[in-house]
Amino acid sequence: MKQLLIGGAWVAPQSGESLPVIAPATGEVFDQIARGQAADIDRAVKAAQAALDGAWGKTSALERGRILMRLAQKVLDNAEELSQLEARDAGKPMATARNDIQVLARYLEFYGSAADKMHGEVIPFTTGYNALLLREPLGVTAHIIPWNYPAQMLGRSIAPALAMGNAVVLKPSEDACMTPLRIGELALECGLHAGALNIVTGLGEEAGAALTAHPGIAFVTFTGSNEVGALVQTAAAKNVVKVALELGGKSPQVIFEDADLDRALPIIIKAIAQNAGQTCTAGSRLLVQRSIYDSFVGRVAKAFAAMTVGTPEMDRDCGPLINKNQMLRVQGYLDRAKRDGIPVIAEAPLDGNLPKGGYYVTPTLFGPVPADHPLAQEEVFGPVLAVFAFDDEADAIRLANSTEYGLLAAVWTENGARQMRVAKAIRAGQVFINCYGAGGGVELPFGGVKRSGHGREKGLMALEEMSSTKTILQFHG
Ligand code: NAD
Repeated sequence: MKQLLIGGAWVAPQSGESLPVIAPATGEVFDQIARGQAADIDRAVKAAQAALDGAWGKTSALERGRILMRLAQKVLDNAEELSQLEARDAGKPMATARNDIQVLARYLEFYGSAADKMHGEVIPFTTGYNALLLREPLGVTAHIIPWNYPAQMLGRSIAPALAMGNAVVLKPSEDACMTPLRIGELALECGLHAGALNIVTGLGEEAGAALTAHPGIAFVTFTGSNEVGALVQTAAAKNVVKVALELGGKSPQVIFEDADLDRALPIIIKAIAQNAGQTCTAGSRLLVQRSIYDSFVGRVAKAFAAMTVGTPEMDRDCGPLINKNQMLRVQGYLDRAKRDGIPVIAEAPLDGNLPKGGYYVTPTLFGPVPADHPLAQEEVFGPVLAVFAFDDEADAIRLANSTEYGLLAAVWTENGARQMRVAKAIRAGQVFINCYGAGGGVELPFGGVKRSGHGREKGLMALEEMSSTKTILQFHG
């Protein structure tokens, strides 16, 4: 059984219990992780506080940065091993897993090199006074991450926190812990101080809930579903703790008649095929101007039907979904849409050679989808693309803004003024013009509006999010 990382040592969970680690590609159990619970979370929070009170709390920004840079290099040195682990544990095609590990290294480099560049300010104040604004760590920070991009989410969440001198308690998803645990080992090899990074695996409702309710934490950053995000915010509110929520999305790609369609087509397919659609920023709504609807959607259908599904080793466009529940959930959306008479424009049939126990679904393109249907409104989190027609710019903006979510959007048009008008009118945390997503995009501030959450990660803004300021006023006469 994989152990918990607490106070710089690998320890058994107090209960002695474990949870199975299942490969989504085959449904087979290939390892066991510790079932951490409230007592383990309490140990981890205390170990983190001890680190802040001890050597880690005295470590200079330069040294913190160097540790992160060393870890980035370790990740690169072990990239193939980490990619294979990530692919097996999360069911990713190898190319996706390899990319994810490179992005993890980028997060560590970006925040490692920024650690000693976040300085405070001297504020001009009344004569005779010296006014300083210090930037300080928040304290013990809690990080709850999902299963869809375990390595990337770990980097995005803990690298800025450690750069700013916080002590971290990380609760990875019970469905994808293997890479985070391996990174914990590598971090110790890089000289990260005992207790600066604690990793407690376990179930969300046990270890996760105990972490968010713990009175010893100063901040929670949560990436996951809206339902759990609301629970996390409620728990944090009871202790008056700051929260960042990175939640779901239903991101539109808006295609105007003058768009460069040749450029758009493969990007549209990738934005829903990637990670089998289990991406918060998946381009899951395709809005096409009516004048080109038939011709362009015909092209999308052909490209969509050519999408391939396979195991990590087959390295195709899509892998399996993460677990049985997720597979049944996505299948439920497909069945409901068909029952409701929504036309299937294209399907990418599953190859008969896929392992029987794996969690595969048939990628499906639906349209036109009524704007109030669950396929138009809810996050499916699978390889399912919903198509809509719009008449003009105002109609496109109305449709783009017609869900509760506001994470990402893309505008495709060659008209520069329209690009900017539409980008400004869409309510989302990021808008892309004639491109989609940013790979890792570690430099670009990221986060949602509306029900997609609040708080910002990535870029230098994450360093502000994961630190606090202190104003010091000195009278010197
Ligand atoms: P989830 O909400 O089920 O789980 C996320 C994490 O929360 C896991 O570690 C889980 O163990 C933990 N958790 C579960 N119940 C908890 C509780 N009561 N208290 C505290 N923690 C608890 O989400 P998921 O299914 O792992 O991930 C998919 C969701 O994540 C999707 O909605 C997706 O859009 C979202 N997501 C968002 C982003 C983003 O940056 N906005 C990125 C990736 C995924």
